[in-house]
Amino acid sequence: MSYSLKVCHLYGDLMNTYGDIGNILVLKHLAEQMGVELESEVISLDQEFNKDKYDIVIFGGGQDFEQSIISKDIQNKKAALTDFIEDDGSMVAICGGYQLLGHYYIGANGEKLEGIGALDHYTKKQENNRFIGNVLIENKETGEKYRGFENHQGITFLGEGERPLGNVLEGYGNNGEDKTEGAIYKNVYCTYFHGPILARNNQIAKHVLMNALTRKYPNEDLTQQKELQVSETF
Ligand code: GLN
Repeated sequence: MSYSLKVCHLYGDLMNTYGDIGNILVLKHLAEQMGVELESEVISLDQEFNKDKYDIVIFGGGQDFEQSIISKDIQNKKAALTDFIEDDGSMVAICGGYQLLGHYYIGANGEKLEGIGALDHYTKKQENNRFIGNVLIENKETGEKYRGFENHQGITFLGEGERPLGNVLEGYGNNGEDKTEGAIYKNVYCTYFHGPILARNNQIAKHVLMNALTRKYPNEDLTQQKELQVSETF
């Protein structure tokens, strides 16, 4: 049996701060070691998101300007993206992408950008401040630690059904108040970690791949894939 997974790089041409696209390279590399062929394509403005075509969605971060354009376009993809998420589709959403999966994001200039409300968080603005720097977090359920770099003005508060990606040990995280960073909802991983978060945190990449494989091949023995050793955070 040969396995394959298809990745949608959502707004990959607009939302790619600090090389978020590297996450797809990491997924491809680990997938190959699991005997899985992984392909990706960009879906952007005015294009349909076909939820049945993809196993994984990667939604990167971006500046307020790009977000203001996407905030409008993504309303046309809202139903399909919400169905994909509710149907246990795998997703990684970073910073600006994370913000737009929630109810709204207030930009640095005070403009309210609508999200799709597929996840129950919301993002307010800070007064003349950004959270910038290295972050270290720990996921309570797995005990895994993750490292990343954050650069955001928005502060996010989690809602119903969401649990944090991790608790903040160093840095600011979602809002600098409640010591949470990122969010997990079903098979969606959200984070403020920029750049290729999956390169520094192979364990998250493995969870994303395993979730996608288990969903697509529910009756297959995936023991070999599960046993792939990946590096811990660095
Ligand atoms: N523009 C958003 C903010 O400043 C998202 C930033 C980002 O994706 N780096 O909070």
